[in-house]
Amino acid sequence: SRQFTRPLNDLANQFNMILSAVAGADRVFQIIDETEETKDEEQAEPIHSLNGKIDFRSVCFSYEDEQPTLKNINFTASPGETVALVGPTGAGKTTIISLLSRFYETDEGEILVDGQNLKRITRDSLRKQMGVVLQDATLFHTTIRENLRYDRLGASDEEVEDAAKAANAHSFISRLQEGYDTVLDADGNGISHGQRQLLSIARAILADPSLLILDEATSSIDTVTEIKINEALANLMEGRTSFVIAHRLNTIRSADLILVLKDGEIIEQGSHQELLEKEGFYADLVRAQQNDNLHAG
Ligand code: ADP
Repeated sequence: SRQFTRPLNDLANQFNMILSAVAGADRVFQIIDETEETKDEEQAEPIHSLNGKIDFRSVCFSYEDEQPTLKNINFTASPGETVALVGPTGAGKTTIISLLSRFYETDEGEILVDGQNLKRITRDSLRKQMGVVLQDATLFHTTIRENLRYDRLGASDEEVEDAAKAANAHSFISRLQEGYDTVLDADGNGISHGQRQLLSIARAILADPSLLILDEATSSIDTVTEIKINEALANLMEGRTSFVIAHRLNTIRSADLILVLKDGEIIEQGSHQELLEKEGFYADLVRAQQNDNLHAG
């Protein structure tokens, strides 16, 4: 098994439920905004661009009053860095993403975006800077071109194709009889699971967000497709601060910062090498996965 943790369906609880109807962070957030009373603070201002520096400073949070879900979360992600969130189901990975996306407010501590308190930034403008790529790409019953344009309606045909090229999707699209005008079934008939993912990556590249949230696929994909997806993701993540709920050791290993969560706390953080040298929880997880692989043959 190549899975690092159990499949993280919790992100699905936050996003996918809504994404089964529509896709794209913008639309997801829009719908959540409509269903929840989420008012901006009076002094909140819109942001128009982001470098993508993220600080969590002594962040505490609980969904209900009794049990703290996140305890004293501290970390800094520099612009363009990749942060891998790892740890058992229920550890708090999704909650960190939810706070960053302002689905909820911190109880204590603060989250800074480019040094600015998240609460001082309007939700709308924040979410325009965020892209979400989930393991199950949502497609619509319309042309590939319109599917790719979903989060940037004004994009030209050339921009659509450039994004598809960067996402390794152009060659398979070009081989379809109708090319970019191919009408997709909402359930994705006619294209493979891997191709769906490439389309969803192309969509995100076109939307050009500064912050990315990725829920890494856990389903098994053939090696060739996996290489294509990894290349596409590398292109997408280039120059953007990315938060990955990671299942694959390879992804985690190459992250700039690994946050190891357990019971709502960051029990270890650092690079792969730093964490191995600690000989702690992470080192044990890696060892366990290597054993898994051995047993799996
Ligand atoms: P992970 O993503 O690491 O699996 P989560 O952040 O989803 O963990 O969950 C952390 C804890 O918070 C878990 O105990 C989970 O049951 C709880 N939790 C998650 N979402 C909610 C919610 N909407 N309401 C109440 N508790 C929640």
